[in-house]
Amino acid sequence: MKYYDKLIFELSKSGRSGFSLPQAPTAPIPASLKRGSAPALPQVSEVDVVRHYTNLSQMNFGVDTGFYPLGSCTMKYNPKINEEVAAMPAFTAIHPLQENVPGIREIYEAMDKSLAAITGMKHFTFKPCAGAHGELTGLMIMREYHLRRGDFARTRVIVPDSAHGTNPASAAVCGLEIVEVKSNEHGLVDVNDLKPLLGPDIAGIMMTNPNTLGLFEGEIKEIAQLVHDCGGLLYYDGANMNPLLGVVRPGDMGFDIMHLNLHKTFSTPHGGGGPGSGPVGVCEKLSDIADDVFVSGFHGNFGVILRAYTYILMLGRENIKLAGKYATLSANYIKESLKDVYKLPIQTVCKHEFVFDGLVDDGSSTGKSGATTLDVAKRLLDYGFHAPTIYFPLLFHQALMIEPTETESKETLDCFIDVMRTIAAEAASDPDLLHNAPHNTPISRPDETRAARQPVVKFADSKQLLN
Ligand SMILES: *Cc1c(COP(=O)(O)O)cnc(C)c1O
Repeated sequence: MKYYDKLIFELSKSGRSGFSLPQAPTAPIPASLKRGSAPALPQVSEVDVVRHYTNLSQMNFGVDTGFYPLGSCTMKYNPKINEEVAAMPAFTAIHPLQENVPGIREIYEAMDKSLAAITGMKHFTFKPCAGAHGELTGLMIMREYHLRRGDFARTRVIVPDSAHGTNPASAAVCGLEIVEVKSNEHGLVDVNDLKPLLGPDIAGIMMTNPNTLGLFEGEIKEIAQLVHDCGGLLYYDGANMNPLLGVVRPGDMGFDIMHLNLHKTFSTPHGGGGPGSGPVGVCEKLSDIADDVFVSGFHGNFGVILRAYTYILMLGRENIKLAGKYATLSANYIKESLKDVYKLPIQTVCKHEFVFDGLVDDGSSTGKSGATTLDVAKRLLDYGFHAPTIYFPLLFHQALMIEPTETESKETLDCFIDVMRTIAAEAASDPDLLHNAPHNTPISRPDETRAARQPVVKFADSKQLLN
């Protein structure tokens, strides 16, 4: 065990201290308020504390430490000017109850206008605090629209089988019944499968375009016509709007409601699940309903919205149009550079992301124990890259979903391509190297389900885990 792998309690030495408190107040403290014994705090020097926390911070991985090609998540660089603006006292000194002061209202209004221009929607509500929260809000607007027209039969929503998992989950939370529409062999919504599903019980359809395979749904106009003709609305999952910036607008494709993830496309931090922002945009006829739906206190996560607004202003109208094009170019560059060693199930030009289906030579032909997508992902960590999204979407068994974003240089992309090729070669020559990876990280292969469901955060238990 390395010195700095020790827990701070293990570094503790009785009587050691890094800080002295001023003289205790002389006023007597009633015995009933005094604790019986001293708290079990670690006794360490200042340098121990500094090293402990600095080393802990370096056990994390983020866009500021390395390339993070996480498909369906747009881990683009978060410019530091966003933080500078958000830290201005004019903003930080505002109390949440002052969210209607003129300067703040002005920013919400300017953001509303900017996003409306980018997406072709009429109006945005900024209340939702995450993408999935935006989906729920959008579906509540959809349901409310039908109810206000006195149409109570529309209780079902159509979701493609390629959809992000949050789509059916949000529909279920909203009390809607989910109807699945199949993808065809090109990975796109099968219009022939869709037609018989449409009827007077359909509230609408949820779509992602480009979909989670990174493919543009070219038949979207026909789909919009069919859904509208049956009386339903179209919901656009714009979590990953990145490739469309300045190219095409969901409003023009026929969508009525959509959400954006400011913490993906608009360069605000993802954090550990938040705080994020999932503003919901609607077409004109739904504008009033959008403002009526109540999903959170206040107008939204203002600090996040401010960062996204800074990003939009810094890029400006013309440059923002380049982001999507460069993101698309980067994804296609990696895809084409690796498709001889990783299986590419869908060969067409992709948008901002694409999916491999494991290694071309996964060992099965030679009788060697095969190297799986999990093995490749784990081995990437040894080379200092974050792993891509794995085993999603569910359409392929060994899915490896890569999204490089526009903020990476060609040199970084080339380095990633080199490493991916090296790993493919290692899989053929020494598969155990991959089966046991990662070798250079603080821990190697935790039980991932247990780590997520039963995280060990207590000193006593974590000590057992390390031994
Ligand atoms: C990330 C994502 C979501 C969910 O966003 P959260 O902010 O994580 O709730 C929904 N749909 C798609 C396509 C996504 O990529």
